[in-house]
Amino acid sequence: MHMDRHHETVLKLEKVSKLYEGATPFLALDSVSLEIMKGELVSIIGPSGSGKSTLLHLLGCLDRPSSGEISIGGRGISGMNDDSVADVRRDMIGFVFQSFNLAPTLSVFKNVELPLMISDMPKAERQKVVWRNLELVGLTDKANNLPSQLSGGQKQRVAIARALANSPKIILADEPTGNLDSKSSKEIIDNMVRLCRDERITVIIVTHDPNIAERTDRMVRIMDGKIESDTDERKRSREGTVNMLYGTAGNGAGKKEARRRVG
Ligand code: ADP
Ligand code: MG
Repeated sequence: MHMDRHHETVLKLEKVSKLYEGATPFLALDSVSLEIMKGELVSIIGPSGSGKSTLLHLLGCLDRPSSGEISIGGRGISGMNDDSVADVRRDMIGFVFQSFNLAPTLSVFKNVELPLMISDMPKAERQKVVWRNLELVGLTDKANNLPSQLSGGQKQRVAIARALANSPKIILADEPTGNLDSKSSKEIIDNMVRLCRDERITVIIVTHDPNIAERTDRMVRIMDGKIESDTDERKRSREGTVNMLYGTAGNGAGKKEARRRVG
């Protein structure tokens, strides 16, 4: 399907664990190994509390693992100090959250411009980047609107445009459609697919929504802090997809039902 892909690893986890310390320590990730290639469109699925956000935060260097090695663009981060890790994050990663996190008093344009203000980019260039990123999410006509004047899907597209500020190689999205209706959800996944295919950005989406997971190339299912299953292209099949989304235990009728819901 994507024969042109260079087999270049952008993200690699080797036996990564995350122990949340405190009064009741909790092992949220248990020796997870995972390799993600440039240009892949990956969904991370699994029940609430299984460790999806923890995994995404580690992939995005928002948090550090308790043990194991994480490499981003071929650079292992365990030996790096926090400033260097922040540099890697800034160079490589764009984050999209469920709750949009837009500044309510700033226009769409200013929201997308905001992360660019902290760089030394000259104003004219900055504005060019903002227009380009708004164009990538199809929102140039809303540049002067306030977030409150947008639909949920449009708000999330502003958040995606904002995440594109540093021309990230990787977009990490944590339940980006969790607050959206099905039409807006489709808008968002359409956008993510386009960024992946046209801009060759690696996209990793945590989602509960089978319709979103269905649209990705690869599904990684997390359960109790471990990878329970992983479809990559070699193993992927329609049957595998259905089983992954709805479980393998089903009898014939269950599978038929699952297929109906997927299709
Ligand atoms: P998911 O995103 O799949 O719902 P999370 O990665 O947010 O799951 O959480 C995984 C587990 O780790 C949950 O049991 C959660 O309660 C626990 N956890 C998450 N963050 C913390 C934290 N900062 N301190 C302690 N436990 C945490
Ligand atoms: Mg979560």
